[in-house]
Amino acid sequence: MKSVVVHYQEIALKGKNRPWFVARLVRNLKEATAGLDVRAVRPLMGRIELQLGPGADWSAVRDRLKLVSGVGNFARAGRVAFDPASAPSDIFDLISREILADLGSTEAATFRASVKRADKRFPMPSPAIEREIGGRIKEAKGWRVDLSNPALTIHVELLTREAFYFFGREAGAGGLPVGASGRVVCLLSGGIDSPVAAWRMMRRGCRATLVHFHSYPVLSRASQEKARELAQVLARHQLHSRLFVVPFGDIQQQALLSVPPPLRVVVYRRIMLRIAARIAGRVRAKALVTGEVVGQVASQTLENMAVIGSAVRLPILRPLVGMDKEEITAQAEQLGTYRISIIPDQDCCTLFTPRHPATRARVEDVEAAESALPVEALIEKALADASVEEFRFPVVKSIVSEEA
Ligand code: ATP
Ligand code: MG
Repeated sequence: MKSVVVHYQEIALKGKNRPWFVARLVRNLKEATAGLDVRAVRPLMGRIELQLGPGADWSAVRDRLKLVSGVGNFARAGRVAFDPASAPSDIFDLISREILADLGSTEAATFRASVKRADKRFPMPSPAIEREIGGRIKEAKGWRVDLSNPALTIHVELLTREAFYFFGREAGAGGLPVGASGRVVCLLSGGIDSPVAAWRMMRRGCRATLVHFHSYPVLSRASQEKARELAQVLARHQLHSRLFVVPFGDIQQQALLSVPPPLRVVVYRRIMLRIAARIAGRVRAKALVTGEVVGQVASQTLENMAVIGSAVRLPILRPLVGMDKEEITAQAEQLGTYRISIIPDQDCCTLFTPRHPATRARVEDVEAAESALPVEALIEKALADASVEEFRFPVVKSIVSEEA
């Protein structure tokens, strides 16, 4: 079986934009399977076919396909070309022969054929085709037909001049193809939440530019190393991740002089957002993303989230806002980010902040504290000192450039 049939769900609903969404998915599938001897990826009447070359290793292809956002499900399939002008019974003979050849010595106590017509001009309804093909298989194999709970389902999809058949389906990542929903800037700490937040936006079709703030040399380099590892893991889902690494230590030192301790975390976060918004302007991102969750820590009360968010005009998306820690942790484990996130580091935002920060910061107090800081100059300096790194998947390489 030298084909893979990829089905999409949500894109099917996209109306006039559908060809554009599908083209994006086709491109992502090509990139995601690079180097695996996938010979062609082509859209085909509501599904996408991947043609596997002789060197394609199915399990490697499968592992890559599982990562591709926008895929509802996929199956390794056989393809049969037929002449639409020939008699239906000849077409059924042809398809059944191919199915039987691929089934080989497979045994199943019960089975059913499940047929979909992609081209409704085929002169017979699907249940009748199921009886025709199912009948031929039954005759050859002697298996019992069970429509409600078969041990084996033989799927057949009839297009205009070709049919696909397959025996099982793999669940895809779901969501929308990365790139279909525009770009966002994700604030990526070394913690558990923010990588999950970034991934959730990717799955909704966003390309995520990542921004990490660190306090090196006041604190260790550990958080930067974690951010890089996280960026590499996240690249598996968007094929290419760009990570801005922004020094934040100077800003914190300066803030010590004028910002009352209970307000420090809020002020740090507001400055982070302003810097992220500037980066968003450069990369043409339309929103900022954080891993904030209502009530998780003192800076994430509704009051503080409002004061923090008011520092910028861009929308701030918080995809985890209503999730519990356990749910987020489970997702992080699935993603493969959890093991990186739990590596101990020193969080730059706990530097010089009290154990009990304000849980209801007032915007007047925060603005008063900030007015004593050269905020614009600090932002400019941080941006000038930032570096950008690129992470690619499947080709694993990282290019460091000095310029932000
Ligand atoms: P996380 O696990 O994502 O760090 P958290 O529960 O520890 O979340 P906070 O430390 O309060 O929460 O951070 C809230 C959000 O602010 C983070 O999810 C992240 O989006 C952003 N953020 C915090 N620190 C940094 C940092 N050093 N660099 C980039 N973004 C950060
Ligand atoms: Mg954190």
